[in-house]
Amino acid sequence: MTSFIVLIGPPGAGKGTQAEAISSKLHLPHISSGDLFRENLKDQTELGKLAGGYINKGELVPDDVTIAMIRERISKPDCQSGALLDGFPRTPAQAEALASMLSSINGQVTSATYIAVPESVLVDRLAGRWTCRKSGHVFHENFCPPQVPGKCDLDGSELYQREDDKSETVKRRIHIYLEQTQPLIEYYHQRGVLVEVDGTKSIEQVTLDLLAAVQKDGNA
Ligand code: AMP
Repeated sequence: MTSFIVLIGPPGAGKGTQAEAISSKLHLPHISSGDLFRENLKDQTELGKLAGGYINKGELVPDDVTIAMIRERISKPDCQSGALLDGFPRTPAQAEALASMLSSINGQVTSATYIAVPESVLVDRLAGRWTCRKSGHVFHENFCPPQVPGKCDLDGSELYQREDDKSETVKRRIHIYLEQTQPLIEYYHQRGVLVEVDGTKSIEQVTLDLLAAVQKDGNA
């Protein structure tokens, strides 16, 4: 049985940062649906052009498109021992599709980790976020500023503000999260795999809490 771990949380909860920190410790590939879309957008593929309109408005890309992209990614050899899914599923239909694609490869979601952060904190976090053009490393003008303004500490590339991190779009993304993604918490709770961590703690503490939660369940 292959274990897949799902990270759930509102935009700004720190899913990407945490996924990067824990995927190497758990020896699992980190699959971020948002990063996959952004790569396609950068390369101007058909998928990227289609997704771009939704992403820039802060809306979800349609389920069929998203599910097909993840199905293809999960079928790659590096996912044979499982993966850490960041940003997928985001709707109950995606969760159902994931369950059926995993059952066909003798896999299942063994942990759905919910990073809980109150709404008031999210807007501040997202609106000050700057992302590196080359590899998507994330900085924050107040909480985690780069050493040189506008430059990535890790690879020196330019930092930019994601179109969907601008204030109005941020509010829209949070609203869409509450409406469409929040139901997944109940979905995974009913299946006995939900674990919740407090996402307002420090980045390092949240990483430790996530690792403890996942390992306690015997999933890694
Ligand atoms: P993220 O980097 O996870 O915040 O995702 C950025 C954007 O990509 C989202 O606001 C959506 O427009 C799109 N996206 C990412 N993952 C999904 C998904 N599972 N379903 C639909 N749209 C998605």
